[in-house]
Amino acid sequence: MNIIVQKFGGTSVSTHEKRQMAVNKILQAKKNGYLPVVVVSAMGREGQPYATDTLLSLLDDEFKKSNHLACDLIMSCGEIISSVVMCNELFKSNIESIPLTGGQAGIITNDNFNNAKYIEVNTQTLLNILRSNKIPIVAGFQGVNKKGYITTLGRGGSDITAVILGKALNAKFVEIYTDVDGIMTADPRIVSNANLIKNISYNEVFQFADQGAKVIHPRAVELAMKSNIPLIIKNTLSSCEGTVISNLVYKKDDNNIVTGITSVDNRMQIKVEFNSEYSYNDLFSILAQKLISVDLINIFPNKALFTIDIKDKEKFINIIDKLNIVYSYIENCSKIAVIGSKMRGIPGVMAKILNTLSKENIKVLQTADSYMTIWCLIETKYVSKAINALHKEFKLGK
Ligand code: ADP
Ligand code: MG
Repeated sequence: MNIIVQKFGGTSVSTHEKRQMAVNKILQAKKNGYLPVVVVSAMGREGQPYATDTLLSLLDDEFKKSNHLACDLIMSCGEIISSVVMCNELFKSNIESIPLTGGQAGIITNDNFNNAKYIEVNTQTLLNILRSNKIPIVAGFQGVNKKGYITTLGRGGSDITAVILGKALNAKFVEIYTDVDGIMTADPRIVSNANLIKNISYNEVFQFADQGAKVIHPRAVELAMKSNIPLIIKNTLSSCEGTVISNLVYKKDDNNIVTGITSVDNRMQIKVEFNSEYSYNDLFSILAQKLISVDLINIFPNKALFTIDIKDKEKFINIIDKLNIVYSYIENCSKIAVIGSKMRGIPGVMAKILNTLSKENIKVLQTADSYMTIWCLIETKYVSKAINALHKEFKLGK
C-alpha cells in the first residue's frame, strides 16, 4: 500500500481556517495517490482551552505528584478531542474518516506514565480502515499499556506517534506539518531573517532537536533514522516544499560550515570545589542515582563545573548541602549550540564564535564541543543577541 503519515501540530489544528488548510494537505495527498494516515496534536498552545497544559492545570500539584496514571489520562484528552474535530472537518469536505485514540490505533507502550516508550504497534485496525478507503485520524502523543491504561509519550510526543506509525505501516514518508516553512537556520521567532534548510541529514537534525529547536522531537528523528523513513517538515499554511530529512548528505550551494544555531534555556551552572573527603566520582554517582542529569562537565584537579536543569535546583541543593561540599551557582543560563556537520576538523570555528560573542560584550561561562556541535553557556538575557550575532557572522541569513 502507498501509505504516508501526515502529522498536524497544535497550531495547525487550532482554528477552523487552519484545519481547512490541513484538510487541503490531506486531499492533495489522496490526489497524489497516497493513503494518508493522519496524526493530530492537541489544539493550540498553553492557555488555550484544550491544550495539554490547560488540561493539566485543572489538577492540584500534590495530586499530580502521586497520580501519574490520572495525569496521563487527562493529558491524552486534548489529542482525542482534536482527532474528532478533525474528522468533523473532513466530513464537511465529504471525506470519510475514523477518529482513534493511540491505543485504538494499536500503539502499545511500557508502563512509564508521562514518558512511555512504545513496545509494538498492532496495525490491524488502521489497515482495515485504509482498506475501506477511509482516513484514520489518530490522536498523537499517546498509547496504551498492556493493562489497558492510557499512557503519554512525553512532550512533543505526537511527532513520535507519526514516526512509530510510519515505521509500523511501512510508510513511504512521514510529513510533519507545523507553523513554519521547515527547519530554519535559527528559530524564526529569534532571528527574523532565518533561512529555510531544504535538505538535512538525520544526524544534524537530531542535534537541532536535542539542543532546543522544538520544531521536531529528537526521539522522532532517532526512530526515523533507525528505520530510514524520510521525514519532511512542512508548513500547513503555505505551499513551501519544506525540509527533507534523510540519510543523504546533500552538498550545499554555499560553503557555510555552520548549518544552524539553536539554544536550550533553563540551565543553571554549578561550580563545586572538592576536598579530600569527596571526589567528582562520588558527586556524579549520587546525582545519577537521584536522576539529576548534568551536562557541560569540565573537571579540574580540585574543582568541577557543570550545568543542570533549573527544575532540579532544589533537589540538587538538598543533596549537596548534606555532602558538605563547597559550591556556588549561576542561575538563568542558556546553552547556545552552533551546529554543522562540516565544521569537523576545521580550525578556528570556536575562535570565531568566542570573538563574535566578545564583540557583543557577552560573557561566555563555559564551552564544549563535539564533532558537529560547539556549545557556549551564557546568561539567558543575552540569548537573542548572541544568536543573531552568530547567525550574521556565519552568514546564515537570507
Ligand atoms: P507544533 O505545534 O506544530 O508541533 P512546535 O511549536 O512544536 O509546533 O514547533 C514549531 C516551532 O519551532 C516554530 O514555531 C519555531 O518557533 C520553533 N523553532 C525553534 N527552532 C527552530 C528552527 N531551527 N527551525 C524552525 N522552527 C524552529
Ligand atoms: Mg512540536
